[in-house]
Amino acid sequence: MPGPLILIVEDNEKNLKLVRDILQFNGYQTVESRTAEKAIEIARTRQPALILMDIQLPGMDGVTALRHLRADPSMRRIPVMAITGSAVSIGRKKALEVGFEGYHAKPIRVRVFVEEVRRILNSRSETKGSS
Ligand code: MN
Repeated sequence: MPGPLILIVEDNEKNLKLVRDILQFNGYQTVESRTAEKAIEIARTRQPALILMDIQLPGMDGVTALRHLRADPSMRRIPVMAITGSAVSIGRKKALEVGFEGYHAKPIRVRVFVEEVRRILNSRSETKGSS
């Protein structure tokens, strides 16, 4: 049985490949975008179970993209996890405050990263089951 679909939004090729490989190795299906603008289109049509959102992107940034997703009834329930780059990016507390369901700072630490993905997907399915 194919695993849940995860949309990866990442403009850095090396990180994109790493995240894709980790997710596929763990049984998830992946789709990817290098920009937030295109990611929003993909999210609308493919309805992924989770979006992994890089914060620093060419064009629209990840926080702005989250606002667009939350403003659209067809996408507002898709959980979004922030993947942040450097010291100039946002921290965990801020990420959760602005509405991300999860947070991971680069460099990617494989085990912690996968645990965070699982946590978000599990909490989502529990919410669905109880409502
Ligand atoms: Mn980036």
